[in-house]
Amino acid sequence: MNILRGIAVTPGVAIGEAVILEAAEYRIPHRMVASAEIEVELARLQEAFADSIEDVEKQANWLNAHLGRDAAQVFEWHIGVLRDAQLRTSIEKMVREQQVSAAHAVSTVMRNYQRRFMQMSDPLLVERIRDVQDIERRLLRHTLGEDREDLAHLKSPVVLIAHDLTPTQTAQLTATKVVGVALDVGAATSHTAILLRSWGRPGVIGLTDFSTRVSAGDTVVIDATNQLVIANPNESTLEEYRARAIRFDRLSHELDEMTTLPATTRDDEKIVLYSNIEFPREAAVGGARGADGVGLYRTEFLFLRPEGAPSEQAQYESYKEAIRGAKGGMVTIRTFDLGADKYTQERRYEQERNPMLGLRSIRYSLQNLDMFKDQLRAILRASVEGNVRLMFPLISSLMEFRQAKMTVYDAMEDLEEEGIVVKKDIPIGMMLETPAAAIQIKEFCREVSFVSIGTNDLIQYMLAVDRGNERVSQFYTPSHPAVLRVLRDVVRTCTKVGVGCSLCGEMAGQPLYTMFLLGIGMRELSMAPANIPEVKKLIRLVSIPQTQRVARRALTFDTERQVTNYLRDETRKLLPDDPI
Ligand code: PEP
Ligand code: MG
Repeated sequence: MNILRGIAVTPGVAIGEAVILEAAEYRIPHRMVASAEIEVELARLQEAFADSIEDVEKQANWLNAHLGRDAAQVFEWHIGVLRDAQLRTSIEKMVREQQVSAAHAVSTVMRNYQRRFMQMSDPLLVERIRDVQDIERRLLRHTLGEDREDLAHLKSPVVLIAHDLTPTQTAQLTATKVVGVALDVGAATSHTAILLRSWGRPGVIGLTDFSTRVSAGDTVVIDATNQLVIANPNESTLEEYRARAIRFDRLSHELDEMTTLPATTRDDEKIVLYSNIEFPREAAVGGARGADGVGLYRTEFLFLRPEGAPSEQAQYESYKEAIRGAKGGMVTIRTFDLGADKYTQERRYEQERNPMLGLRSIRYSLQNLDMFKDQLRAILRASVEGNVRLMFPLISSLMEFRQAKMTVYDAMEDLEEEGIVVKKDIPIGMMLETPAAAIQIKEFCREVSFVSIGTNDLIQYMLAVDRGNERVSQFYTPSHPAVLRVLRDVVRTCTKVGVGCSLCGEMAGQPLYTMFLLGIGMRELSMAPANIPEVKKLIRLVSIPQTQRVARRALTFDTERQVTNYLRDETRKLLPDDPI
């Protein structure tokens, strides 16, 4: 058994055969072949080796001629591995004795090879893992040739293992038979994690090198509830997890009953629960899970379409679909939050040194005014379809907010001149995601219609921890006393001056923080639709004075660990059977 701990994105248990997704976007099936086909597979293998050697030789010659011998040397090592008779014999032996496809044998043997390098103490040899991966990929490309298999054609349920998934790959999971995901990289609030959450099945990320520890066809258990993945579990562990998966299903059915019940506390305080969506059709899904509307529509996911930047008309159609899907519920459209880990970097010739502190979000929109205006026009045109409000991401100064708001009025004027009706009194709000905005909340309250706290970014900027970096994820926590105090102060100021305040970071969907948030006066929470039933269940079990006591006590601790332990104890008292 190989057990690793990572970061959970959606709770639950998934059990299945591993499919490994290579960076080149094809998967290695664990395919058995009939005896009669073994020779075909061996011939395929021969050819793949010959073609790979030819490729690498060409590359090495070119490098030698253009950049010199040093540069070519690394490929000479690749040629050495590809010519290694022992390696080839082990792959052939596996095809023959275990009657599996050439691709499966290549993947298994090369992964064993990688594992050997991983265990070496010389750091230079450990570096060779990348080369081995490169060789494996090349061999697979030639072995699978034109019949490279993609996820859309899976016939039975599998667990997907990959080093990383791009947002595009993640978005495509919905239409596949993948039942769970394990990734080497990523952190809880990275955008891949957010997309995995909206996909809704168990996932564990930030596993460092899990993808090199498993081979296609291995049995893998994803225990997202306990943040674990297990490769090749023994029979008793497997039995235990089968039973857990059944228990988890039962709990999910119980939570389904929450859908039609109101989110009111025991003392009758109504809490507004919104959904966070990435795609317009999810507005209706949120409603079906019991949401009162959409608290955050991440419009930048429109860029996931193969055609790239969406036109004004395409955007208008999407916004209209979301608004209609919400059936009269509020839809909060956030203008593009591009930059940082979302899309713009990969299109740049030279990447920013610090993208999280770079040209992102509202800054990017204000420097690309044509694109920004197209978006505002589309939102304004769609605004007459229902209950819509608009907000800007990552506001860090009043000047910036004013400039963005002026652009909305400009777009409004243009539309009116063209005779197009818009909702002139559309509420215009801000996302509070920077410490500067939190400190100036009083001034902002004079100019904004509403505030939505984006804790994913606020925590990253307050604690100086990159939200997408698994190497520092242990430092990233909403439980930090400084974060709790800032949240309390922001809610207090907004409540005092009567400006609506909601919270739409991942924290809103974690039952661990529900009592604290209610206790400091938060009455609107926006979260992934999958989290709504459980948060609602908890809301229905508490009274406001009880949550105020919990919040007051949570605010007395000096360290994040004390806060987490305390909140966990309090939450478990109310939800003893739920994984917290
Ligand atoms: C946030 O930062 O909390 C937020 C909700 O926005 P995003 O996760 O899209 O950055
Ligand atoms: Mg954000």
